[in-house]
Amino acid sequence: MSAPMEDVMDLAEKLRAGDRRALARAITLVESGRTDHRARADALLEAVADPERQALRIGLSGTPGVGKSTFIEAFGCMLTDQGLRVAVLAVDPSSTRSGGSILGDKTRMERLSREPLAFIRPSPSQTQLGGVARRTRDAIALCEAAGFDVVLIETVGVGQSETIVAEMSDLFVLLLAPAGGDELQGVKRGIMEIADLVLVNKADGDLKAAATRTVADYAGALRLMRKREGDPEGYPMAMPVSALDMHGVDTAWEAMQVLAEFRKETGFWQARRTEQARGWFEDEVRLGLLRRLQHDPKADAAIETLRSDVAKGTRAPSAAAAQVLDILLPK
Ligand code: GDP
Repeated sequence: MSAPMEDVMDLAEKLRAGDRRALARAITLVESGRTDHRARADALLEAVADPERQALRIGLSGTPGVGKSTFIEAFGCMLTDQGLRVAVLAVDPSSTRSGGSILGDKTRMERLSREPLAFIRPSPSQTQLGGVARRTRDAIALCEAAGFDVVLIETVGVGQSETIVAEMSDLFVLLLAPAGGDELQGVKRGIMEIADLVLVNKADGDLKAAATRTVADYAGALRLMRKREGDPEGYPMAMPVSALDMHGVDTAWEAMQVLAEFRKETGFWQARRTEQARGWFEDEVRLGLLRRLQHDPKADAAIETLRSDVAKGTRAPSAAAAQVLDILLPK
């Protein structure tokens, strides 16, 4: 039975029992663009909502080849070995996917994908980043409802996908490769500002010395940045890891837990989640409004005429827009 046809309450029950197949079907449902599916998706999200079930949401970013999948495999398996349930989601900023996904690909995390305590979901092939963001938020909520302890949200270090992922995470981890020189690898300041933890991967073999230097460079750069309100001393933090040798992965996990615990104690954690939930609600209202307006046949004809008037310069854009709004939303 496909998800859309399945009874939502039945799906909700299985999902809350931690059934991974139910979780996969539920995510398929929230990814669907069909209006009737959306109504079911909303019913499902409401049915499973449980503020008591909170996972640690970790955003993870890095350029292709830096070792994201190797790290997630090592990190994820370490967590499942400890009995924790780990979900991996991906936010793919590329407009179209060709030749398979680059993120959240199970073949890149073979061991983790076989772990009964793990769940890996590749990025959906949606073209709009906004759409992907929405689906990912819902998917996170579903993973939490299914009782996952850690939700990793993977993204590539390009464009605005990092900001989107950081906004839906509790912690943000930036994965970097050892740099050749002492320059900061052209990492954008904005990304440094949202990173809680900078992990310099491949700190092994020939690259170990370069990794140590790179960590020192980043530690220096991070110290120059303002300590974030609600964070303990020493954060944001830079440290070396080797995903391949599984070296430093446990230390990185400890650093994440210390930060998470600290933020919980100071109330910063909950405040951030409240703010995120509010922001998502407002986004949904805005997006929903736009969607409804876009499909109003009454307005389409008028918009067409006004668009050409504006292009010709016979109507002022603001006046033309006001006229459209009056048709769509009569006062
Ligand atoms: P992704 O594109 O960011 O997911 O990167 P991958 O995880 O696919 O890794 C890219 C390449 O870097 C692969 O050849 C990995 O074997 C290698 N790699 C990943 N982590 C490490 C590491 O800790 N040390 C070394 N030496 N190589 C690594």
